Amino acid sequence: MLDISEFWRIPVSLGAIRALGVVVGLGAGVTVTGVGDRRGGPLVVGVELVGRPCCGGCGGRVHGHGSSTVRLADLPAFGRAVRVGWRERRWLCPEESCAVRMFTDQDPTVAPPRARMTSRAARHAARRAGLGRAISEIAAELGAGWHTVMAAVHRWGSALLEADTNRVEGVTALGLDEILMFRRGRYRDKHWGTTIVDTRRGRLLDIVAGRSADGATAWDCHFLCVRGVV
Ligand SMILES: [Zn+2]
Repeated sequence: MLDISEFWRIPVSLGAIRALGVVVGLGAGVTVTGVGDRRGGPLVVGVELVGRPCCGGCGGRVHGHGSSTVRLADLPAFGRAVRVGWRERRWLCPEESCAVRMFTDQDPTVAPPRARMTSRAARHAARRAGLGRAISEIAAELGAGWHTVMAAVHRWGSALLEADTNRVEGVTALGLDEILMFRRGRYRDKHWGTTIVDTRRGRLLDIVAGRSADGATAWDCHFLCVRGVV
């Protein structure tokens, strides 16, 4: 049962914008600039970074030079699809000898450059895909396009796989098998992959592109030889 006394730990003096920022939860360096609520559409949360950055080249003061807004798919909230409208400000460095002339706001905790989903939504999608959910299901859940979700899963899933070295611990024998991944093009050309399996535990470790020995050998060297597993 919920203990109502817990609520007293929440600072009740939060201003409306700050309170909204806590609900949206994109970090202390981000402020909410507005909320768009068009009937039948996703909830659109406008955000921008707080404060004026320094030049990354010379560390000097920079001047504002307009902005553009990117629209990012985010996690659903309150039963609705959500889009984050991030107003990315552009900045000019006035120092003539500086190698940095112009740059835009960047905050990978919101989204990496050129992404179409927030970082948290992309991590969520990658985790779901890792559990075997179809990309189309995840896209429907987030109210996002198939290609948007696939790009995010590829980007974040690759990083997660690279960081996950535990799965190769204790591997003593590998099994390789070619698999037809998909057909593409006018002549429905076959595109192959090679599955790499821990044969002792019967566990899939990875899939590499192609069915020649090169891809699997490169994977072996990267994950096993270099780490001294075998
Ligand atoms: Zn500079």
